[in-house]
Amino acid sequence: MTPSTFGPPSLPPLPDRLSRLNELAYDLWWSWNQHARDVFRRLDYPLWRRTAHNPVRMLRQIAPELVERAVKNPAFINLFNATLLAFDEAHAGGDTWWQQRYPDLAARPVAYFSAEFAFHQSLPIYAGGLGVLAGDHLKETSDLGVPLVAVGFMYPQGYFHQKVSAEGWQQEVYEQVDWADAPIQPALTPAGKPCLIAVPLGTRSVLVQVWRVQLGRVQLYLLDTGLEENAPWDRDLTARLYGGDRETRIQQEIVLGIGGVRALRALEVDPGAWHLNEGHAAFVVLQRIREQLEQGRTFDEALADVRRTTVFTTHTPVPAGHDAFPFQLVEHHLAGVWGSLGPHRDAFLALGHHDNGSGPLFNMTALALRAAANVNAVSALHGQVTRDMWASLWPSRAEADRAIQVVTNGVHVATWLSAEMARLLERYLGTDWHERQDDPVFWEGVLGIPDEEVWAVRQALRGYLFAFVRERARARWVEEQVSAARVVAAGTLLDPAALTIGFARRFTSYKRPELLFHDPERLARLLNAPRRPVQLVFAGKSHPADEQGKRHLQRVYAHAVDPVYGGRVAFVDDYDLHVAHYLVQGCDVWLNTPRKPLEASGTSGMKASINGVPHLSIGDGWWAEGYTGQNGWLIDGGPAASDEEADARDADALYRLLEEQIVPTFYDRDDQDLPRRWIGLVKEAIRTVTPRFSARRMLKEYAERMYAQAMK
Ligand SMILES: *Cc1c(COP(=O)(O)O)cnc(C)c1O
Repeated sequence: MTPSTFGPPSLPPLPDRLSRLNELAYDLWWSWNQHARDVFRRLDYPLWRRTAHNPVRMLRQIAPELVERAVKNPAFINLFNATLLAFDEAHAGGDTWWQQRYPDLAARPVAYFSAEFAFHQSLPIYAGGLGVLAGDHLKETSDLGVPLVAVGFMYPQGYFHQKVSAEGWQQEVYEQVDWADAPIQPALTPAGKPCLIAVPLGTRSVLVQVWRVQLGRVQLYLLDTGLEENAPWDRDLTARLYGGDRETRIQQEIVLGIGGVRALRALEVDPGAWHLNEGHAAFVVLQRIREQLEQGRTFDEALADVRRTTVFTTHTPVPAGHDAFPFQLVEHHLAGVWGSLGPHRDAFLALGHHDNGSGPLFNMTALALRAAANVNAVSALHGQVTRDMWASLWPSRAEADRAIQVVTNGVHVATWLSAEMARLLERYLGTDWHERQDDPVFWEGVLGIPDEEVWAVRQALRGYLFAFVRERARARWVEEQVSAARVVAAGTLLDPAALTIGFARRFTSYKRPELLFHDPERLARLLNAPRRPVQLVFAGKSHPADEQGKRHLQRVYAHAVDPVYGGRVAFVDDYDLHVAHYLVQGCDVWLNTPRKPLEASGTSGMKASINGVPHLSIGDGWWAEGYTGQNGWLIDGGPAASDEEADARDADALYRLLEEQIVPTFYDRDDQDLPRRWIGLVKEAIRTVTPRFSARRMLKEYAERMYAQAMK
């Protein structure tokens, strides 16, 4: 281990009155608190923008005279002190929702395992939706005071950055993250020593170092094999998210499951419940069974105890989306583990046994389903699909129904709600909107906000999106001298007053990113209508191994450079949390076109709706339960005999909604130039979606139905 990479980061010293700025910068709580964000914004606004909102990097780079200027600015000091008060309150133990609800269950935390977490762009350890959900889960956990520690990976190369060639092909660029710029610190054991653990992999032992991220009341521990003591191939095991082949994948999952439990033991954390977010972390149950065998329990006793205290959330309605490995691969990489599992090796392997038609494999989801008594799917529809998909694991349908519960996903409102909309709510609904965010009655108040105020916010947010898109296009032009066509494709010709439809998500076949282009002439007529133009903004990465997805992306990009569409189709590259914020807040309509029922839930439509961007979607995932008839639109082409027919019918239904309802409503202005009926939709979207699809509602359900059950 090189001490220089492991020591606490050294930030330049701060004057006394601002000494706690460091603490604030290293606690991602700042990212979901508007006043804390303002502290860093006001400290040095150009630097705030240049660092893509990264306080740690700011404090490493800021000019001493700007710090001095802040100290002498009473308004800044007031803001800073008020923020510290809120900061201390957000870390206090006493009076949280969890404390009031479960005063007897505060002693032992929940351990939450996930292969990715998305909190903020300054910590690039996520790929997409699963990470965002895990990130929102942890933020809400902190807000509600649910005792929880989380475990994940620190990926030194993160997920890839996306560049798009002139022909529209995705290029994946991996950059070494400068960890001195990230809000991470070495995790220390209670004895004050750096936390290092060993994980058996095959016949060798891999050393793992543990890092810590602070998120309000919650601690996240990140595992990292990038140590000099490890062989080069072991160092690279955790270098990238979803980067390698099957061999890499199973070894990563062993490090996460077995290493994660060992890390918590080394840190003397004693969880009362264990939550596996998706099957990647299912080897946790193996390690916990081993621990209990070593304490003298029988295999059946150990399994029963592990089941009772394990919570498992499944996210994938596509059979191929579940990790499964040949048994011989599992046996090979777990070679160092069998010793203590001794005679129970076959019993353990049987827990993962699953045959989805192409022969038996060791399936991580099957393992988790058999080893967790508390299982949930992530939307009502996904619950049904999951019960069908795994029916063979239960003796009867009634038991499958009982086994799979539903906790529909939600989004962390303070993270995803724009500052402008938050200020408007505060003005008309009061400052306690944050405390009452999951109370549907409270949100009735949205209907009373004056139309012109709501519209002014919507216009401002669309304006910010275009300023952002133009700046990106300018940067590409300056950095790479891209052609004029590519500057157009990046969105420079977009009209800040035109109806803007957003489509941003992973590019993959089942999401049908090309559905809008099914009838190019019909679409061109819609986009180029002289008085009522429509424009499209696309963004999204394709998984590096998804060739189909890359072809979809390439064709969408080709449309963006095609003059037929008049410069009204844009593709914004390198979709991440930062881009997502601008898009879900700044578009007018949020489009989602999955092939039903393959979208387990989807969350970007929730982020859009809470900002007054109505959802235009197939009735899949969360929209099957979120659509009310007044808060957006349902694309329903009716039953179809084939995928081709479904595409044609859904595309026709989509065009008709746009032609007959969406475009006319948006451009129907009164004598004050206000689109009254549109504003009605905006308010309905906010009113109906915020309380029901907030992470607050979601987390209370996890706490009440899953955690409290597992901890009792
Ligand atoms: C919200 C979000 C997602 C997930 O969006 P879906 O609608 O579930 O596909 C993916 N990536 C980023 C960056 C996000 O913010």
